[in-house]
Amino acid sequence: MELNRRDFLKGAVVTGALAAGGALAGCAPAAKEGNAANGTAAAPAEGAASEYLTAASATQKWAFEIPPEPITDIAETVEADVVVVGAGTAGLVTAYSALQQGLDVVVVTASSIPISRGGSNNAIYSKQMEKEGFPRQDPYFILKEMAENSNNVDQRKWYRYYHNSEEAMNWMIDIMEGAGFQTGIERTSNMVEDSLFYQAPAAHGWINAENQAVGMTQPFVVNTLSEKIQAEGGRVLFKNIGRQLVRGGVPNGTTGRVTGIVCEREDGSFAQYNGTRAVVLATGDFSSNRDMMAKYAPQALDMVADEVYDTVDYDKEFVFGGLFPGDGQRMGLWVGAAWQKTFPCAPMGATINAGTTPNAYQNFWGLLVNRDGQRFMNEYCSNILGGRAQTLQPGGESFALWDVNYSNLPDWYPGQGGYGILEKLAPEQVVELWEDSVASGAYIKGDTLEEVLEQVGLPVEETIATIERYNELCEAKEDTDFFKRPENLFPIKTPPFYANKAAGTPGLLTILGGLRTDDNMRVCDADDHPIEGLYNVGTMVGDFYSGFYTFQVEGVNYGACCLTFGYLTGKFIAENE
Ligand SMILES: Cc1cc2nc3c(=O)[nH]c(=O)nc-3n(C[C@H](O)[C@H](O)[C@H](O)COP(=O)(O)OP(=O)(O)OC[C@H]3O[C@@H](n4cnc5c(N)ncnc54)[C@H](O)[C@@H]3O)c2cc1C
Repeated sequence: MELNRRDFLKGAVVTGALAAGGALAGCAPAAKEGNAANGTAAAPAEGAASEYLTAASATQKWAFEIPPEPITDIAETVEADVVVVGAGTAGLVTAYSALQQGLDVVVVTASSIPISRGGSNNAIYSKQMEKEGFPRQDPYFILKEMAENSNNVDQRKWYRYYHNSEEAMNWMIDIMEGAGFQTGIERTSNMVEDSLFYQAPAAHGWINAENQAVGMTQPFVVNTLSEKIQAEGGRVLFKNIGRQLVRGGVPNGTTGRVTGIVCEREDGSFAQYNGTRAVVLATGDFSSNRDMMAKYAPQALDMVADEVYDTVDYDKEFVFGGLFPGDGQRMGLWVGAAWQKTFPCAPMGATINAGTTPNAYQNFWGLLVNRDGQRFMNEYCSNILGGRAQTLQPGGESFALWDVNYSNLPDWYPGQGGYGILEKLAPEQVVELWEDSVASGAYIKGDTLEEVLEQVGLPVEETIATIERYNELCEAKEDTDFFKRPENLFPIKTPPFYANKAAGTPGLLTILGGLRTDDNMRVCDADDHPIEGLYNVGTMVGDFYSGFYTFQVEGVNYGACCLTFGYLTGKFIAENE
C-alpha cells in the first residue's frame, strides 16, 4: 500500500514511543503464558516482536489505522453548507439532492472526471416499471437476501431501501428524461419466478440514439448530474484528494463535530473545504489497499494483483481486479469512526464459472463436474452463487459438459437491445457462437466424449460414469441426486460434444462496505453513536452486505446505496442539520 511521508512519520512516532517506554521501565513486561494443551502460543510481552501471530499480537493496530500528523499548511479555505467527497454516483446523487433542497454544495473529488461503471440501477418500483407493466418487487426478495446472508446485514437499511426507492428512482427518471435520455429496464433473469434465484426485471438504465445498451450507460447518469450541479450553482472540483477530515476544528481531531476536509490539490497545495451542515464521504471501495484487504476482506486478498496494490488511480471506471485505496474509510477511522460489524466485507464478483450461459446472470444449467469427474451441485441457479460452488471444488476448477442439443434451451438471450429488450437467438445462432469459442480455444469440441474429456483434462472413465448417471436422470426427468428442475435436464448424447474449464483466480469487481453507519447514513463511533456532521453513502456504507454480493437484486448497489441513500441523505441533511 501507499504510505505517504506523514503516515510513515506518525507510525515511526508510535513505534518509537513503545520502544522508549520499554527501556524506561527498566525491564520488559513478562509474556503471558501459553497453553500447551490447546496449542495456544505464549503472547509476546507488550512491545516485543514475535515471529508468529498469536491472538494477542493479532490485535495490534495496522499501519493504516494510525492517523498521520495533522496537515496545517492550508493554502486556501472554501466554505459551503455541504461538502461531498467523491464524484461517483453516490456522491453526485447526494450533492444534487442537497442542492435541490437549497443548500450550498461543493463536491471535491480525487478523480479528474465523474466516475461510473456498468449501469444497472435497481428499484422496487417506478413509473417506468408501471409503464412497461412490470410488477412492484415482492418484499419476499428482501427476506431471501437476508437469509442468504445469514441475517448478517442491517435490515433497517434494506427496508429503508424498500420504502424509498420508488421515490428516488422517479426523481432520477425525471432528471435523466429532462436531459433528453430514455429510460429502459433490463430483462435478464430468465429464471422461473418461483425460484429461489429469481431476479425481478427492475434494473433501470438510460439510453440515447448512440448507446442503447441498458445496463452499460452509467456515464450518462454521472455526467448529467455533474453538469446539473454546476449549472445550478453547486461546485464540482476535480483532482482534489481528500486527505484528512476536520473534527473539533482540527484535522484528524477525535472529538466534536466534523466540519470539513483537507484536500491535496494537483499542485501539491492543501485546501480546506468546510461544510457547516455536513461532510459526506463517497469515496468508493478499498480493494486496491493491500493492508485494508488483509484486515477487512482477507478472503478476497489474492483476487487483486500486486501491481494493482502498488498503484493508485482515482479515475478507474469499468475495470476488474481492484479499484480504490479506501481513503474515505481511513479518514473516518482517524477521527473516531468504528468499522462495520459484519465481517468480512463482501466482494462483488469473486467467482469462476465454467459453461455457456444464455445470459450474463445465469449459471450454466447443463452438467458441471469437478476435476475428478464428479458432479457437485444443482446447476440451476444464478451465476454468482453457481460460481461460488465451483470455486470451492478441488483445485478451484470446474468443467462444463454439453452436447449440441443444449442449444435447444427455450431462451438464449446473450445481448441487450434498446430499452433493455433482449435479443433472442435461434439454436443455429447459438451453435455459431459456440463455434467462435471453439476457434478461439475457449471451448473444446469433439465427436466422441472420450476425445473431449481427454482434451479438456478430465479422467475419462470416471467422467463417463458421471455422464451416464446424469443421462439416466435426464431420461427419467427426475434428478434424484441434486434435484435440478426437470426442464433443465438435458442428456449429453448427441455429437458434437462440447466442454470448457474454469480455473485460476476468481474475478473481482469491488469490495463492499466500510465504516459503521446508521440508517440515516450517519457515520458512527464504537458505541454506535453518530459522529456529528459526518455521513457516508455508496459502496462504503457499512453493514449493507455480507457473504458474497448475490447479483439477485441486480444493480442494487447503485439502486440502494448510491441512488436511494444518496437522495435521502441530501434531504436528511437539509431537514436535520
Ligand atoms: C466492472 C464493474 C461494473 C459494475 N457495474 C455495476 C452496475 O451496473 N450496477 C451497480 O449497482 N454496481 C456496479 N458496479 C459496482 C460499482 O463499482 C458501484 O456500484 C459504484 O461504482 C459505486 O459508486 P460509488 O459512488 O459508491 O463509488 P465510485 O463510483 O467508486 O466513486 C468513488 C469516487 O470517490 C473518488 N475518491 C476516491 N478517493 C478519494 C479521495 N481520497 N478524495 C476524493 N475523492 C476520492 C473517486 O475518484 C470517485 O470519484 C460495478 C463495478 C465494476 C468494477
